[in-house]
Amino acid sequence: MSFNYLPLKNVDVPEIPIKKNVSLSASKTALIVVDMQNDFVKDKGSLLVPSAKETVLNIKRLISAARKKDVVVCYTQDTHFKDDKEWKIWPKHCEKGSWGCEIIKELKPTKNDLVFQKNRYDGFYGTTLNHYLSNVWKIENIILTGTVSNICVAQTAASAGLRWYNIVIPADSISALTEFDQALTLRQVSFLFNGVIVKSSNDIKFK
Ligand code: ZN
Repeated sequence: MSFNYLPLKNVDVPEIPIKKNVSLSASKTALIVVDMQNDFVKDKGSLLVPSAKETVLNIKRLISAARKKDVVVCYTQDTHFKDDKEWKIWPKHCEKGSWGCEIIKELKPTKNDLVFQKNRYDGFYGTTLNHYLSNVWKIENIILTGTVSNICVAQTAASAGLRWYNIVIPADSISALTEFDQALTLRQVSFLFNGVIVKSSNDIKFK
């Protein structure tokens, strides 16, 4: 098979297997909510992902289901300090202590949830997330939700996949700036890490 390397136009998305329902062990599963912060989700945010709004209720539903079954609920919180190098790539965002850095009020963590402040795209990089997931809670399955699909969600998924966690992503609970980015994320998680993709957060049950 031959194909054009560049320019790439009208690229077809390869078929992504979608599971209808997934039932996960409550004690071996963690729900991770990635970067649902004002700067990414709210209209006045400095790095708005417009489609993130549409995921809020879907994520909220899953958080409620998880809490009812004592499933570990973790949040990542993108956090940057003065002169952060990431601000050379992106507009200034999620500065520590700012409104933009706060997790949106609709998904506010409770006192039992863990919030991991991260400084780069990957929720594992430079954080104690893996220590808790692996050493403390003996987690095997990670459900990933949040934003931005192809950036912090994908990088966190990759990091989870490299550590052999089983990854589950409800497609209606992650958001990207373009459909291409969304498709890329689902394809990579499914194809590279044998991740399970479901259409909706409703399709995930805990047992
Ligand atoms: Zn950032």
